[in-house]
Amino acid sequence: CTIDKDELVSPTCDVTFQEINDINNDIRESLVSLARTDFFKYFKLDLYKPCTFWSDNNRFCVNRACAVDVVEDWDSLPDYWQPEVLGKLDDVEDTEGNKKGEDECRFLDELCVGNDNQKQFTAPDVNYCDIGDFSNSEAVLVDLSANPERFTGYGGEESAQIWSSIYKENCFSEGESGQSLAKNAFYRLVSGFHASIATHLSNEHLNTETGKWEPNLDLFMARVGNFPERVSNLYFNYAIVSKALWKIKPYLDHLTFCSSYNEDVKSMIMNIISRLDSKIFNEDLIFENELSSKVKDDFRARFKNVTQIMDCVHCDRCRLWGKVQTTGYATSLKILFELDERDEKSKQSIVDKLTKYELIALINTFDRISKSIESVNNFEKLYNTRLAGG
Ligand code: FAD
Repeated sequence: CTIDKDELVSPTCDVTFQEINDINNDIRESLVSLARTDFFKYFKLDLYKPCTFWSDNNRFCVNRACAVDVVEDWDSLPDYWQPEVLGKLDDVEDTEGNKKGEDECRFLDELCVGNDNQKQFTAPDVNYCDIGDFSNSEAVLVDLSANPERFTGYGGEESAQIWSSIYKENCFSEGESGQSLAKNAFYRLVSGFHASIATHLSNEHLNTETGKWEPNLDLFMARVGNFPERVSNLYFNYAIVSKALWKIKPYLDHLTFCSSYNEDVKSMIMNIISRLDSKIFNEDLIFENELSSKVKDDFRARFKNVTQIMDCVHCDRCRLWGKVQTTGYATSLKILFELDERDEKSKQSIVDKLTKYELIALINTFDRISKSIESVNNFEKLYNTRLAGG
C-alpha cells in the first residue's frame, strides 16, 4: 500500500496515519476488554424485519448461486462449511427469552443505562438510524462474542447489489453550499465501512484445505491493500468514531448503569476515552456551521436509509454486524453533528438520551474499526515478509 504514514488522514483530520496507529496501539487491549464485558457483548436485532427497498420480484438476486463468494466449488465442501452455516447466528435468545434460563435473562435486564423507555423519540428527529428497532418485540438478543465477524461466504451479485444501493444513497441536493464536503464524508464513511468488512473477512478467512481460520494476504490485497484510498477511508472512520467518543466524555458522568458491576464498565470507558485526541477530527468543517442546512437533513435521511438497507442482507451474521456498525456510525454522526456547541444542556441531553443499544453499537463499532487498523498493519508486515522472500 502506498500510503505515506506521515500525511494527514484528511483535510478534516489534524492527525497522521501514524498517529492513529499509535493511538490504536495504546488503547487496543483496553478496548478489547471493554467490548467483551457483559454490558457490551449483547446486541438486539430483528432478523425478520422486511427489506423495504426492493422485493424479490423486482429482480433482486436471492438464489444461492448469486449469493456466495470466493470459493470456486462450494458443492465439494462439507455441510459445516457451506455459506448457510458460516453465515448463521449462534447463541440467539428467542423473543420470549427462554433459551438461557431466567436468571441470565434477569441479569441481562440489569445491564441497563438509566431508563430506556424515557429515552425514545425526541422531536425533531436527530437520529441517523431507527432507534425504535431496539424496542421492537420481534427483536432478539445476540451474543456478539459467539458470532465473530469473519468470512461467511456471502457475496456474488446479491451483496454487490446491496453495496451499490448503499453507494447510491450518496446523492445530495444539488447547489447547496457544503454539499461537496458532506458528499465526500458520506462516501468515505461508507467506503471505510466496506473496507473494514473486507479486512475482517480476509483476516479471519476459512482455509478450506486445512479447516483453519487464518489471514489471507492475497484476498486482503485484492479487496483493500491494493487501493490506498480504501485504506485511508478506514482511518477516516476511526477518526469519526473516536472523535464522537471524545466528545461525550464530559457528559458521561450522568449515565447511571444499573448494577454495581457496571461501575467498572464506566471507568473502563473513561480510561479509553481519556487517551483519545480531540484534533483527530474537525466535524465543524463538514457542514460549515450551517447547522440547519438542507444538506445536513439530507445526510441524516440518507444515512438512515443505509442502516435500513441492512435489513435486505440475507446472511444473518453479516446483517448482524452490518446493523451493529451502521448503528455505531449513526450514533457517532448524531454526536458529532447534533450537539449544539453553544448549548451545554443540549449536549448533556443528547448523551442522556442515548439508548443502551446505541452505546453498545458505538463501542463495538470502535472495536471493529480498531481491529481493522491493527489487521492492516499486520497485513503490511506479511506483505513485506513476502517481498523480502520470507
Ligand atoms: P464487494 O465487496 O461486494 O464490492 C462490490 C464492488 O464495490 C467492488 O467490485 C468494488 O468496485 C467496490 N468496492 C469494494 N470495496 C470498496 C471500498 N472499500 N470502497 C469503495 N468501493 C469498493 N462477507 C463475509 O464474508 N463476512 C461478513 O461479515 C460480511 N458482511 C457483510 C455485510 C454487508 C452489509 C454486506 C452488504 C456484505 C457483507 N459481506 C460479508 C460480503 C462482502 O462485503 C462482499 O460483498 C463479498 O465478499 C464479495 O466481495 P467482492 O470482492 O465481490 O466485492
